[in-house]
Amino acid sequence: MCRKGTGRSSRTWRCATFVMLGSGGTGPGQKDGYDGMIQAPDRSKESEKWLSDCQLCPRACHVDRMRGERGFCGEGARVRCARAALHLWEEPVLSGTCGSGAVFFSGCGLKCVFCQNAQISLEGAGWEVSPERLPEIFLELQERGAHNIDLITGASFLPQIREALLAARDRGLTLPVAYNSGGYESPEALRLLEGLVQIYLPDVKYFSPELSAGCSHAPDYFERAMAALEEMFRQVGEPVLSKEGILQRGMVVRHLVLPGQTKDSKKVLRSLYETYGDRIYISILNQYTPMPGVTGDLARRVTQDEYDRVVTFARRLGISRGFVQEETSADEAFIPAFDGTGL
Ligand code: SF4
Repeated sequence: MCRKGTGRSSRTWRCATFVMLGSGGTGPGQKDGYDGMIQAPDRSKESEKWLSDCQLCPRACHVDRMRGERGFCGEGARVRCARAALHLWEEPVLSGTCGSGAVFFSGCGLKCVFCQNAQISLEGAGWEVSPERLPEIFLELQERGAHNIDLITGASFLPQIREALLAARDRGLTLPVAYNSGGYESPEALRLLEGLVQIYLPDVKYFSPELSAGCSHAPDYFERAMAALEEMFRQVGEPVLSKEGILQRGMVVRHLVLPGQTKDSKKVLRSLYETYGDRIYISILNQYTPMPGVTGDLARRVTQDEYDRVVTFARRLGISRGFVQEETSADEAFIPAFDGTGL
């Protein structure tokens, strides 16, 4: 069970890491408690079909992962993870007092040059997790008091995750499930999660095709991410909070401010607000940490002035359902250990 105050909660946000950007409010979606998951479609054998001609993300590599071929993400037919543990560093509507039940999946379809989880996204760290073990991991996190199951960068394993969620639900999983994503997702593949995921946590990282091509090898990033968000929002709708203020359903869209890219950040925020208004949470991240090997502006941190300019812009736009972070959030010490914990 959750023991309040355990774990590394020292990451200082304004108001326990994040602070509401505006009055925010819980809005019309607030209700007293969570009344159970919405209905999931029937169980099916989707995995082999998807993996034998992989188009699980917009890379559409068309490789046969069942026969050992590998695409851009480098992942095969078996699920690989790097860590499963309570995680206290998400937004307060997710981490609450006990933490989210974070499961870090290996591989990535973006491979951002500045990735703070480079061990798993770029360097291939991870351990195979069997179809029997993955639902057990979810249930163990529930037993430890997690507020939700937080599936981090699982796009390469969507069909297997679906099977694991169905199995875990059969065995008593009742927590909301959050799908935590870099935003570069296929709407068709996301439909596998319909009814099984209640919370979406996508990034929208870039507006400019040049920037997304240079940082993530994906000139089509923005249009792909916005199409993915449309599907995510269709599935989960507006935020619903428990009476304790923990998100039960809805979407939190994250944007990491990059050094030297405040204009791009403003375009991202404007597009999000014009599309969704305050029907989603927007979280403006100030945790960019330069990793070894990056060059140019990416080799430095975001200045407080840069971050403040983006936040001021967001306020002027009218965004009120959002979160901002403190400067001290940018620190390598906050990168979790990808050491197989909890697998
Ligand atoms: S999940 Fe991996 S193999 Fe499949 S399309 Fe995406 S990058 Fe390619």
